[in-house]
Amino acid sequence: RVDLVTLGETMGLVAATDTGSFTVGAPARVSFGGAETNVAIGVSRLGHRAAWIGRLGDDPLGLLIASALRGEGVDVSRVTFETEVPTGLMLRERRTADRVRVSYYRRGLAGSRLAPDDVDPELVRAARLLHVSGITPALSPSARAAVHRAVEIARDAGVLVSFDLNYRAALWSPAEAGAELATLVERADLVFAGEDEAALVVGEGSVAHLAKGLASRGPTQVVIKRGGDGAYALIDGEVVTSPALPVTLVDPVGAGDAFVAGYLSALLDGLSPADRLRRGNVCGAFSVSVSGDWEGLPRRRELATLDSAENVAR
Ligand code: ATP
Repeated sequence: RVDLVTLGETMGLVAATDTGSFTVGAPARVSFGGAETNVAIGVSRLGHRAAWIGRLGDDPLGLLIASALRGEGVDVSRVTFETEVPTGLMLRERRTADRVRVSYYRRGLAGSRLAPDDVDPELVRAARLLHVSGITPALSPSARAAVHRAVEIARDAGVLVSFDLNYRAALWSPAEAGAELATLVERADLVFAGEDEAALVVGEGSVAHLAKGLASRGPTQVVIKRGGDGAYALIDGEVVTSPALPVTLVDPVGAGDAFVAGYLSALLDGLSPADRLRRGNVCGAFSVSVSGDWEGLPRRRELATLDSAENVAR
């Protein structure tokens, strides 16, 4: 029995460590990333049991991802390995000190083959939360169907459905995404979105308008992630806000997933709305101040680290 089940695509990552274009012999760091596994790792590090459902290639990257997730305590027992197509890959260049360029090699590859039969109903029914993102439905018709199957099973069983809009412009148009994201908002209990993402569903407006618009479609917990401005939420009809923590920005990628992991772990702990937002912001702050999509996510005993004015923790 796990606390959180999630599903989606996770890819290998080769990230150049120097600034500039990729060149022969450039130093690089090998890792992996995927919005849903980032959340699963964050929740697991905070002491809850998380499971990830997805497809990987039967290749070195697939094995690297599965073993790293296992090492993080994430249940990968429902992961399957494709022999016909490889694991997807992201190449990340730090093109200039301020501009990161990511190239994706994912179309038709293992992650996009996710299908409804991959969703183990017993695993979902026994969980406390199902978490899905708006990336997965953009990958392929079968991946979209898998998300809907998981959501349907969770709703029928009374398992809370958490949904991060996570709009990816490279995968689909705003119009195509807007309709699908709206459908998932209507089926979710918790919704996480950036302001631009919320506007795809409810139209442009103030943060209050965006949160109200999303909540009017059904979810009882709507959280708008606002980068360095923290978070604005509408939870059971009440507005709650929480500021970001002052930290040095090193790598913005993965902050949204870190926030979600923090919020969901606090919900699993039975904390108040304000404390859920606070933990989301703490995890977001850890994420942006360490390089890597998920590497900086805190363990439970580290949560108070950023509260101290001391630079050295002993
Ligand atoms: P992603 O790049 O992962 O898609 P996102 O756009 O979903 O991120 P953001 O709103 O950028 O999410 O950031 C999520 C959370 O991370 C914020 O709500 C905040 O808690 C934290 N965060 C982001 N940027 C900063 C910052 N500069 N300083 C402190 N905290 C930050």
